[in-house]
Amino acid sequence: MTTQEAERSSELKVVEPATEQVMAAVPRAGIEETDAAIDRARRAFGGWRSMAPGDRSAMLHRLADAIEERQGDLATLESRNAGKPITDARGEMQMVVQTFRYYAAGPERLLGQTIPVAGGVNMTFREPLGVVGLIVPWNFPLTIASWKVAPALAAGNTVVLKPAELTPLTALELERIALDAGLPEGVVNVIAGPGSVAGKRLVEHPDVAKIAFTGSTEVGRGIAQGAAGTIKRVTLELGGKSANVIFADADLERAAAAAPPAVFGNAGQDCCARSRILVERSAVDPFLEHLEEEVASLRVGDPLDDSTQMGPLISADQLEAVSSYVPDDAPVAIRGHAPDGRGYWFPPTVLAPVSNSDRAAAEEIFGPVACVIPFDDEADAVRIANDTIYGLSGSIWTRDGGKALRTARAIETGVLSINSNTSVRVSTPFGGFKQSGVGRELGPDALEHYTEVKNVYYATD
Ligand code: NAP
Ligand code: MG
Repeated sequence: MTTQEAERSSELKVVEPATEQVMAAVPRAGIEETDAAIDRARRAFGGWRSMAPGDRSAMLHRLADAIEERQGDLATLESRNAGKPITDARGEMQMVVQTFRYYAAGPERLLGQTIPVAGGVNMTFREPLGVVGLIVPWNFPLTIASWKVAPALAAGNTVVLKPAELTPLTALELERIALDAGLPEGVVNVIAGPGSVAGKRLVEHPDVAKIAFTGSTEVGRGIAQGAAGTIKRVTLELGGKSANVIFADADLERAAAAAPPAVFGNAGQDCCARSRILVERSAVDPFLEHLEEEVASLRVGDPLDDSTQMGPLISADQLEAVSSYVPDDAPVAIRGHAPDGRGYWFPPTVLAPVSNSDRAAAEEIFGPVACVIPFDDEADAVRIANDTIYGLSGSIWTRDGGKALRTARAIETGVLSINSNTSVRVSTPFGGFKQSGVGRELGPDALEHYTEVKNVYYATD
């Protein structure tokens, strides 16, 4: 099918990246379907916002329970469709359940203030925005959707969720599960359509009050521009090129064991990927030795196999894009295994040494390619870490506590870990500095991004 035929076809064929086979076909949403979903959400808003907070909370708990009951099937679906290892997909479904549970407490925690003033008192209320449009990428499809759907619903909004065309299946399941769990019709609406049509419509539609977007910085820029027409609220979770800073005094074995999952997890298709490994010059050789062992033992293959640690890339286009960062003359220091034959496979690859200004170090590759960049001292490490348009995530490895905290404060990034490679927890804020985004998801702050403050003066004299 040509691209033009695919655009016209009303069916969306969903491909399994490990086999290149079509695994499902779903109706493709265009302008009409998007408008209809926005209309359903608009009509459902009045009832949902005025529901007693305790009742809305109970509904969200029921939704979490219903997702938990289905988590095995959802994990398999996500693993096949996104090509991610089944053990990762299971962990992600647990996070989805946790996210709904965490925000289920939200309806009863939308607190305001009372402020005594001359002649009376002001009180503030956290009001829902109305219909919110949620646009998500293909790398963590249901997880990232839950980060938006859960706080949006808790705050009393209704939602129209647009999954990526490549991975619509678990989002479509979520819509069904929400209805089964007893949420009123129209509260959760899912439209599986192209970003350039369905996504654009959501961004420009006057009845949509806010767009919460996760995706590339390039598309995010267009969303901010498109939303300006109707002064929509916008939060953006965008790309990254995070630094994994390894000082010579670190536990090098631990740092080397933690580096591969931090950049090759989800086949590198992770906005938090620590894809720039900054290593203090005197430690480069011993670090690379440890790293080579770790990369050699990485199991790359069938996503549905319990022992698999890395699957294929999402698509042929992604494979082509990632390959372009590793030309024949690239400084490949370490190359792991990848299956031959069908599927969009790319081996875990480490380039070393790389200069921070090289294309592979400057651009978000979104594939299993890491750059090792030597540095001279603490100031040099901070300078290199900050020499990027991005600022999403990162890690610092050292046994010197003072140096760890100084470096953490100096790096311009939203989420950092010290002697660890984990970034994301349901109860803590996640989001980017600089061109990695606007706003925060998860944690207590996310709820506020789905509300507006109303200030009411009550005259008492
Ligand atoms: P993308 O190309 O930016 O697409 C993201 C979403 O936007 C998809 O649903 C896409 O729809 C839609 N879209 C595309 N063009 C649009 C338009 N003109 N108007 C409205 N919506 C539009 O990103 P991706 O390729 O799916 O994902 C990879 C990117 O996401 C990476 O840059 C990564 O860093 C970023 N990411 C960031 C985070 C974070 O939390 N900061 C998390 C994960 C991923 P279709 O694809 O269906 O056309
Ligand atoms: Mg894309």
